[in-house]
Amino acid sequence: MSHLHTGSCLCGATKFELEGEFKRFFLCHCSRCRKTSGTAHCANLFAPGATLTWLSGEDKLSYYRVEGTHFARTFCSLCGSNMPTDSKERGLVAVPAGCLDSDVDIMPNAHIFMGSKGNWDDHLGDVAAFDGMPT
Ligand SMILES: [Zn+2]
Ligand SMILES: [Zn+2]
Repeated sequence: MSHLHTGSCLCGATKFELEGEFKRFFLCHCSRCRKTSGTAHCANLFAPGATLTWLSGEDKLSYYRVEGTHFARTFCSLCGSNMPTDSKERGLVAVPAGCLDSDVDIMPNAHIFMGSKGNWDDHLGDVAAFDGMPT
């Protein structure tokens, strides 16, 4: 059974459809993910053999890869949102969970690279929580 997922960037210029199934969902706390996300971790879904179709804005996408590694980012050149990366050589599509407009049908499998996490990234579940901006 195949699943259709949809997503877009913050400014709305880029939109995509992904046909396939998410098999893994990792929250990665490595230093590269902290840099690219600007926060504690990336939340990446991996869909082996999935088909990624850009519905709009493919010409607005930028791509960056850390030389000599598999670490790559596709992002909207207008608003900077991280977008899916179609890795032909790895046979999978990596999708930042935050760019999806459709619901995610699996829960995160694991926190990874906790050995490189930020020094403020501890017991975040214990921090006070509000539905909106606290007054
Ligand atoms: Zn954008
Ligand atoms: Zn990482």
